[in-house]
Amino acid sequence: MLAADLVNTAPGSGTAAEALPDAGALEVFLDAHHVVPRRAAWDEDLIAVRALRPRLLAIWEAVAAGAPGAAAAMPPLAAVINELLDDADARPWLVDHGGGWGWHLHVTRPDAPLIHRIAAQAGFALADLVRLGETGRLRRCAAPGCRAVLVDLSRNRSRLYCDTGNCGNRQHVAAYRARQLASAGGTAEPPPAQGRRRQPGGPGGRSPG
Ligand SMILES: [Zn+2]
Ligand SMILES: [Zn+2]
Repeated sequence: MLAADLVNTAPGSGTAAEALPDAGALEVFLDAHHVVPRRAAWDEDLIAVRALRPRLLAIWEAVAAGAPGAAAAMPPLAAVINELLDDADARPWLVDHGGGWGWHLHVTRPDAPLIHRIAAQAGFALADLVRLGETGRLRRCAAPGCRAVLVDLSRNRSRLYCDTGNCGNRQHVAAYRARQLASAGGTAEPPPAQGRRRQPGGPGGRSPG
């Protein structure tokens, strides 16, 4: 989601360094998030987009502050999102700009300033989560030391880690090492599997023809 990915470009959140160091990096980000077609991004756009990040982060913080009963966080949350949409002069706009999307809805006019297009797109996606009662999907990465935010769109709401800092992999490696240490120093190392059974022509093993 654009909002989460944008928050995570800030230094100290997903990565240590600024992930939007120049207008070129902003262009790459906008391409990746379907902010097309558009005019070229300038330095002033970059400044505005960077300034949007703490406003978006505040939405995750409002959700966290209201946990576990998210209802408590709703008034401030709705207010922040409404303000975001209002500032961005958001308005639905049907477009067909090619690329296989067909006719679809943008949330700003095509000639709107880039910052408005980004803020409106982020605001609409977040408003949808509020509308659906799904703000619990706005979370922070569970990896120690990682400040990244995430939107858990998994079916069973089981996502723990961001995809910014390779946190999932790092946590799996850490857990594996911890298990190895425990078994090396412990007493209950499981016996190795004896004589691997082989199923000739198991499922999926059919030869063609
Ligand atoms: Zn589009
Ligand atoms: Zn992370």
